[in-house]
Amino acid sequence: MWVIVHTYVGLAIASLVHAPFWQVALLVIASHVLLDLVPHWDYGQTAHAQAWGWVDFLAALATLLALLATGSPWSVVLMGPISGAPDFDVLFFVANGGRGRKWFPSHWRRFPHGHCSKKAGIALQVSIMAASLAVVLAAR
Ligand SMILES: [Zn+2]
Repeated sequence: MWVIVHTYVGLAIASLVHAPFWQVALLVIASHVLLDLVPHWDYGQTAHAQAWGWVDFLAALATLLALLATGSPWSVVLMGPISGAPDFDVLFFVANGGRGRKWFPSHWRRFPHGHCSKKAGIALQVSIMAASLAVVLAAR
C-alpha cells in the first residue's frame, strides 16, 4: 500500500494502543505486513511512479507536520513514519528506475502482495485513510 496509508494506520494504532513505545512500534510494523496482503493498487509499476512516490511521501510528511503543529504527542506522531518506513525501499526502488533490491519481506516477489484494479485500490486506500484519521481525531 501507499506510504501515506501505512502512516495513517500507524497513527491510528498509536492513538488507540497505550503500551510501551517498542510494543506499539512492533504492532505498526506488523500492520504494514498485514496491509500489504490486502488487495490494493500500487503506483510502483506505473509510468509516473516517481511523481506518485513524491506525492505520497510529501502528503505523509505534511500530515505528520500538521499533527505536530496541532499538539499531537510525539509518541503518536512517530508511529506514522515507523509504520510507513518499510516502504522507503519501494521509494528507493522507484527512484532507481525499478532496479535494485527490496529488503522488507512484504515487498519480496514471493510474498502474496495484494493487488486489485486502480479504481478499487484507490477507493480502498482512501477509505482506510479516512477511517484511520477518524480514529486519530476521536482519540485526541
Ligand atoms: Zn509496503
